[in-house]
Amino acid sequence: MSIGNPFGDHEGYLKTINNTDNKGMFITAIFDDPKTFMNGYDFKNRCDYNSRKAAHGFHKFANGICNCGLTVEPNNLTGNHFSLEDISALFNVVDAYPAGAILYIELNNDEDFYLTQRGNTLTRTLQEQLRFLIEWKYAHEHLDNNEQIAVTATEIINLLAIPQSIQNWILSDVPNEKVNRFLEGRTDALQRTQEAIPDLTEELKEWLLNQFKQAKNFGEHE
Ligand SMILES: [Zn+2]
Repeated sequence: MSIGNPFGDHEGYLKTINNTDNKGMFITAIFDDPKTFMNGYDFKNRCDYNSRKAAHGFHKFANGICNCGLTVEPNNLTGNHFSLEDISALFNVVDAYPAGAILYIELNNDEDFYLTQRGNTLTRTLQEQLRFLIEWKYAHEHLDNNEQIAVTATEIINLLAIPQSIQNWILSDVPNEKVNRFLEGRTDALQRTQEAIPDLTEELKEWLLNQFKQAKNFGEHE
């Protein structure tokens, strides 16, 4: 498993539509006190065990059911329904500490299964991921949605201070993401859109490359 230091070439995260956007994904994580989701013996399993905050997913199990609806308990170390062993690559790429971060992730198998699984925050590209977070922020601020992902997405978008021109482009050119498709009542809301996804604009590429440079490794946040 390759974790931490990103690829030498950050440009690999700037996926090209219909070319490099079918392997690897982006996933939003929340930062929490490790002691709230790791066990004492997990210090061996995650390098950020002793950090003040560590990133994990949004699945939470209570009274025999996960907040995504599954009756299978999520993995406590990932906060998702996959384990650390399922991950072949994981890098912090857009850092919005202390709220959360967008990570680049590669899974050993069945990425499409997890991409379309309910409660996951996975997308194939960063333009889709940013649109997904902006939609959750809208749901939180205008539709009274107070799910953890809605609250965290709002905090992330506010912390990142994405230039308005970029946000406008995402809203006008990137097709609806899962939140909006769900609100439209679509039964295929969890599937990747069939509509054409535009390649990143030069302005967004430049903004992202700057974010990649600033993103801290796991365990490096003070
Ligand atoms: Zn779940």
